[in-house]
Amino acid sequence: MARIVMKFGGTSVGDMDRIRNVAHRVRAEITAGHQVAVVVSAIAGVTNRLVAQCRQLARTQMPWFDGEYDVVVATGEQVTTGLLALALRDSGVPARSWQGWQIPIRTNEAHGKARIDSIDSAPLLAEMAEGSVPVVAGFQGIGPDGRMTTLGRGGSDTSAVALAAALAADRCDIYTDVDGVYTTDPRIVARARKLDRITYEEMLEMASLGAKVLQTRSVEMAMKHRVPLRVLSSFTDTPGTLVCDEDEIMEHHLLSGIAYSRDEAKITLTKVADRPGIAAAVFGPLADANVNVDMIVQNISEDGRTTDLTFTVTKADLERAVAVLRASRDFTFERLIPDSNVAKISVIGVGMRSHAGIAQTMFKALAERGINIAVISTSEIKISVLIAEEYTELALRALHSAYGLDAV
Ligand code: ASP
Ligand code: MG
Repeated sequence: MARIVMKFGGTSVGDMDRIRNVAHRVRAEITAGHQVAVVVSAIAGVTNRLVAQCRQLARTQMPWFDGEYDVVVATGEQVTTGLLALALRDSGVPARSWQGWQIPIRTNEAHGKARIDSIDSAPLLAEMAEGSVPVVAGFQGIGPDGRMTTLGRGGSDTSAVALAAALAADRCDIYTDVDGVYTTDPRIVARARKLDRITYEEMLEMASLGAKVLQTRSVEMAMKHRVPLRVLSSFTDTPGTLVCDEDEIMEHHLLSGIAYSRDEAKITLTKVADRPGIAAAVFGPLADANVNVDMIVQNISEDGRTTDLTFTVTKADLERAVAVLRASRDFTFERLIPDSNVAKISVIGVGMRSHAGIAQTMFKALAERGINIAVISTSEIKISVLIAEEYTELALRALHSAYGLDAV
């Protein structure tokens, strides 16, 4: 007997037939003798609509300021828990719904983007021991002030992994509308392949560098608590992708995948005075304004006095970043050049730790297509480059074949 957390995303519970289909999947695990807790998202599209409604009425305040936003958007998940509990009972499986505050799932006070502090597993374990299925609302928690909180968009993945950790589950199955994690986006590269296994670290890079199958924080949490994670489709019976420890993967490919993001923008400052403390002077005010800086390059200065500085921020932060830099009196520069026409392409793989020449393959493949690289950054298991946005597709396809990832 295994203890399993099954999580179903918005499209998997997209209508009443699909919710019935989910109930059948849960019943199959129960019939096989397992203990199951389920975590659900809101029906696809519902959260977007609720967020838009909040925005309409909260034109002058941050809608997520004190929890009214959370009260509104958390209703999406509440509906699904009740519907699925009904469908489960209808198929002969005892079940009940749980809202985040009822368990409780305790979070910090950051309404709209709360982080989970603790989960009381006792009531759920008791229910499962009696053969009933707890159907838990993803995305929801309760803050120190006793008011509802939500975990940020895509947060029910994190709810599921946190619950799996709290219940000491044998695994957490994330059911979605794709049948696993692919080497790259199959909508762009037709020969993308589904991965049987991927390490936590690689998945973390994939998620934070643009692959949208799992919320980044859920992978972080799975890695920290060593929760084996499966990503699989609720519409097919294919085995999906297992996210696991490195030593559970027998044979590594050089690369696991290629991610891309069009969410970044580039800022160049020319002729910044080159003196100790200049980076602190430039990036300090940005940090204070909550602007996240990602890639950074600074040139050596030819004349010993000035240098050029290029870095990236999210597209959403570009305007704010430019305003902050222009307002700063702590450094001077000649020109500030913002550019939102960029994409970041990243190749990812733990094989990089032990193999040389991986970067060269990337640079050569891009050069052969005449694609210029604006910024490069690396970590132990990834290399990212910034290129002009219009070359995104071409670059992905070129790199996918250059690294031998194409399906045969
Ligand atoms: N319903 C929430 C959202 O759309 C949480 C989730 O589905 O993960 O962001
Ligand atoms: Mg999701």
